[in-house]
Amino acid sequence: MSDQPLIKVDRILEKEHAVIDGIDISGRWNRMFSQRSITEYPTEAMDWITGLDGGESLRDCYQCGKCVPVCPVQHVGSYGPRKLHVKVLRGNNLIDDPDLWLCTTCGNCFRVCPKEVNPLQIMPAIREQAVLQGKVPDELAQAFANLQRQGNPQGESPRKRVDWAAEAGVPVPLIGELGRPVDVLWYVSDYTSYHPRGKDAARAMARVLTALGVDFAILGPEERSDGDSARLAGETGLFELLAEQNIKAFGKYAFARLVVMDPHAYNAFRNHYPRLGWTGEVLHYTQFLAEHVERIAWRSRLDLEVTYHDPCYLGRNNGEYDAPRKLLAAIPGVRLAEMPHNRANGYCCGGGGGGMWLDGFVAEHVSERLSERRVREAVATVGTDGSGVLSVACPYEPSRFEDAVKSTGNDGRIVVRDIIELIDQAMQPLPATTA
Ligand code: SF4
Ligand code: SF4
Repeated sequence: MSDQPLIKVDRILEKEHAVIDGIDISGRWNRMFSQRSITEYPTEAMDWITGLDGGESLRDCYQCGKCVPVCPVQHVGSYGPRKLHVKVLRGNNLIDDPDLWLCTTCGNCFRVCPKEVNPLQIMPAIREQAVLQGKVPDELAQAFANLQRQGNPQGESPRKRVDWAAEAGVPVPLIGELGRPVDVLWYVSDYTSYHPRGKDAARAMARVLTALGVDFAILGPEERSDGDSARLAGETGLFELLAEQNIKAFGKYAFARLVVMDPHAYNAFRNHYPRLGWTGEVLHYTQFLAEHVERIAWRSRLDLEVTYHDPCYLGRNNGEYDAPRKLLAAIPGVRLAEMPHNRANGYCCGGGGGGMWLDGFVAEHVSERLSERRVREAVATVGTDGSGVLSVACPYEPSRFEDAVKSTGNDGRIVVRDIIELIDQAMQPLPATTA
């Protein structure tokens, strides 16, 4: 950019003596300017971004500021969608700007934006260019490499994808070994398969499906990451590779419905796999179980104060708010309390859009993690006497929120549970007490 002023004031018009209706407006009090001419306006960055497939809507921002109070990252840093627009107007194409990686693609600004400026499309479009130029934060690059090599962001062996099932207490059939069609192909997903807390949810899900008599099976080692977070983080080619592998696996078997644990997988299969050739029916597990809730045989009363965190990619970005609440309301003894940010205005946990693999990088640019803010809100809602639960329906969240419970000093004051864990718990008999 040149040092010249962007806006040139051509001439100042001013009457030395002026009195109107007895009021003296001499000199600068009547000062006016001739028409200002814009002498220099760097349009290259805006032209480049809006020329990208997905970047078009950035040009439509008219600085109304409606997005400012709803962007979660703006609450904890100097980032915000309106500020991004100003940066680009000033000639910054964002490729080398940390802001490029702060947006979690939570969609809350898009929800309120009168001009439909859409970071869910803008950010992946610019990030894709950063990926092509090799300008990716190290931890994200590592997750991409793991996804490329092993089909999961943790870099674990695909053969270990089903290890959790050994301790489920019920059989977990592999569809490749069954040799027949099933009603439900359960897509387990990465964090549910490999993360210790995710595995707890997987085992709970296996027990609940079995108790309900659902005819289900899993892909096991044939399953790959759904790829949606890689797509939102700018690795379009990797997303397409993973989708191709999953679609190939889906095509080998006959099943009526796909049921997923992960809202990001739900988003991918529902909204992005169809253009790549897969068009089956997909349900989030809370939607599937909500259909069967009347058949659940409850055996315990939990007596818990529970609040629910709407995952961005189940709630706001896919419109499902009721199924998780229907399940929670059905669990004996659960009292559901809403946090101030709920449903369409739910607060992002920070894990979306690649945020799951950018924690270290993001921490350098924010005053507090989004997960920590959310935990504080949960604690304020359900209290600190130990009976409070922050319930979730996304495998990214137990680990994020449990870390945040510790870092905010709330260990022992609130617990984090996937809804499936609460259902499983209430379907078990209460442990016998000793006199
Ligand atoms: S709500 Fe939309 S138009 Fe208004 S400042 Fe934010 S991005 Fe721009
Ligand atoms: S999508 Fe979410 S995190 Fe990204 S700019 Fe909009 S409100 Fe902020």
